[in-house]
Amino acid sequence: MTKLKLWQRWILVAAAVALLIWAYVAFDLGRLLTLEHLKSSRDQLQGLFAEQPALTLGIYFAVYVIATAASFPGAVILTLAAGALFGFWLGLLVVSFASSLGALLAFLVARYLLRDTVQRRFGRTLTPINEGIARDGVFYLLTLRLVPVFPFWLINLVMGLTPISATRYYLTSQVGMLPGTAVFILAGTQLASIESVGDVLSPGLLASLVLLGLFPLVAKVVVNALKHKKTYARWPKPKSFDRNLVVIGAGAGGLVTAYIAAAVKAKVILIEGHKMGGDCLNYGCVPSKALIRSAKLSKQLKDAEQFGFKDVTGTADFSAVMERVRAVIQQIEPHDSIERYTSLGVEVLQGHAVMTSPWHVRITLQDGSQQTLSTRNIVIATGARPFVPPIPGLKDAGYLTSDTVWNLTTLPPRMVVLGGGPIGCELAQSFARLGSAVTQVEMAPHLMVREDPEVSELVRLSLIHDGVDVLVGHEAIRVETHGDQKVLVVRHDLEEKSIPFDDILVAVGRSPRVTGFGLEELGIDLTPRGTVQTNEYLQTLYPNIYAVGDVAGPFQLTHTAAHQAWYATVNALFGQFKRFKVDYAVIPWTTFTDPEVARVGLSESEATAAKVPFEVTRFELNELDRAIADGSTTGFVKVLTVPGKDKILGVTIVGEHAGDLLAEFVLAMRHGLGLNKILGTIHTYPTLAEANKYAAGAWKRAHAPKRVLAWLEKLHRFNRKAA
Ligand SMILES: Cc1cc2nc3c(=O)[nH]c(=O)nc-3n(C[C@H](O)[C@H](O)[C@H](O)COP(=O)(O)OP(=O)(O)OC[C@H]3O[C@@H](n4cnc5c(N)ncnc54)[C@H](O)[C@@H]3O)c2cc1C
Repeated sequence: MTKLKLWQRWILVAAAVALLIWAYVAFDLGRLLTLEHLKSSRDQLQGLFAEQPALTLGIYFAVYVIATAASFPGAVILTLAAGALFGFWLGLLVVSFASSLGALLAFLVARYLLRDTVQRRFGRTLTPINEGIARDGVFYLLTLRLVPVFPFWLINLVMGLTPISATRYYLTSQVGMLPGTAVFILAGTQLASIESVGDVLSPGLLASLVLLGLFPLVAKVVVNALKHKKTYARWPKPKSFDRNLVVIGAGAGGLVTAYIAAAVKAKVILIEGHKMGGDCLNYGCVPSKALIRSAKLSKQLKDAEQFGFKDVTGTADFSAVMERVRAVIQQIEPHDSIERYTSLGVEVLQGHAVMTSPWHVRITLQDGSQQTLSTRNIVIATGARPFVPPIPGLKDAGYLTSDTVWNLTTLPPRMVVLGGGPIGCELAQSFARLGSAVTQVEMAPHLMVREDPEVSELVRLSLIHDGVDVLVGHEAIRVETHGDQKVLVVRHDLEEKSIPFDDILVAVGRSPRVTGFGLEELGIDLTPRGTVQTNEYLQTLYPNIYAVGDVAGPFQLTHTAAHQAWYATVNALFGQFKRFKVDYAVIPWTTFTDPEVARVGLSESEATAAKVPFEVTRFELNELDRAIADGSTTGFVKVLTVPGKDKILGVTIVGEHAGDLLAEFVLAMRHGLGLNKILGTIHTYPTLAEANKYAAGAWKRAHAPKRVLAWLEKLHRFNRKAA
């Protein structure tokens, strides 16, 4: 069936409403569907049923379905009529099916005419409701149906706008409406003694139905409590606990968790098996950004002539570059050190932690001694490790990962970077700028597949410009070693190609660290992505065990690990009073290639795939004074907004310092500020940050009120003429 356009749907809705009102008035349904009319015509109707039982039943069924589908008031009178005409059992049977069918039709009409519009317009606001309905929709519906005080038509209309399936809706409605229907049918069999519809539902009966309505929800709570009890059954709970919180892993997630817990005076212990600061400090963000800085200088030296310098040469002393990288780590180390955290009130132990029960953690210290602590809560923050694909020959040839690349002291003359994600791109560009002949191999058709194709393309071009041989759509199939010669064989369009190399850096993703610390023994599930399964409060199967950071996903970023840490800590320590669902609504990230790629919210491709309507506004950096002065005009600011509104759905910035520029949009999105607010904010001249304001200005120009401007033009013309 071809889908109607929005305006056609609204015309249809208006026509349907008008038709219903007309039918209601024309057939005088207000008078027909009253208790008095039913009582006065009972004998006549009963006679009709006695003479033509099948026809009467059929007409009754059709009238009931139409009346309920059209949401006419009077379903109660029709139900009473069924009791009066057909008796209890037959009446119950007919009304049960007719009301459920009518409800389904009303539900489908609302769904067809309005759901897409409502979901599109309020999609993001409705997300929690949609998720709640997907999870517990049947329970809510059952409750609403069992308590006959909620208007029948309203339930049909509202539920039609949600994602609940029509089959579930029908079946739940039929079951849920049975008790209420039975009450009215029974009353209908005693029609003579009823003076008003209100008589049917005495306060006592209504209270019973309300209790019945609450039953599904109460049952759910009880089932959950039993499940909870069963989960913990095999683990004896200590009478008291040594600690409020044990945190496993001192990376971004674990450090922030411990910090917050200590700040609110909880007794918290942080256990780190390797290096304080985790991957970010030792193998990730910090060393990579330090390397990028040296690589950028190398590039600037090459470009020196553009800035008016002659005879500038400079060759990277790779071992000195790596020395600096290590020095940068050392300089930042105190921020994450045992001393600092101890001074903040965190007890820190260096050792390997294993959960031996939901309440106990065994720690093997570096001297081999062990101790077991009881704790009310545990936060797992064990991070991730580089994923190494099973490519034949790779292991024998030897490879680098983000864990080991920092140990290099000599620059590989020929380097292969396997992987076109953020880490692969950052490191491929850096090594190329420092003097390696880099070949980057990516299986997907684009680099950085999460970003829009134009963004990936810009990154690809800039990598090529830096000398990287970028091979997208190439699959690495084996590594061959011939003496001291190593070759990667890749396949593209069914053809094989050999790439000789000295070192190969594997950067094809990171696997959550989920083994060797008790997850299996406790039966804690993993997601299909291999992360620890948590709910929206970051609780695992055991509600007192939480997971944050790379091990929990869905993001693998330092700032999201820290963000989750707040939720896990607060929920663990104060969950008995209030729990908070982790909020992923506004998550920014940056890939620190040159130009940088920074994003928050939706990209164009994501918005299109999710069918979120959007408008795009762009501002090119080659129009920005400061970018021109700096000689860094590559890139743009791209803003997605709600059509006709300044509400920001997502922003991508490509350019110098894009990661820093993005912060303004992150703030705006987080606090519901639109482009008008950014436009109304003074930005220092000449800064790169002005690009944000100019993007907002471009949006404003595109939405200038044309009619008002036409009138203003007339006004000014008039003013010029007036003496
Ligand atoms: C090259 C590279 C560049 C990156 N660049 C950025 C960037 O620019 N921006 C960004 O946001 N993110 C970046 N990341 C990602 C970032 O490093 C991670 O997202 C972040 O470190 C995750 O923190 P975490 O606390 O979850 O885990 P981790 O930092 O991995 O910490 C986990 C810690 O737990 C310890 N541990 C594990 N098991 C046990 C156990 N049983 N007992 C005791 N201790 C244990 C480990 O030793 C480790 O120290 C980068 C990553 C890499 C590899």
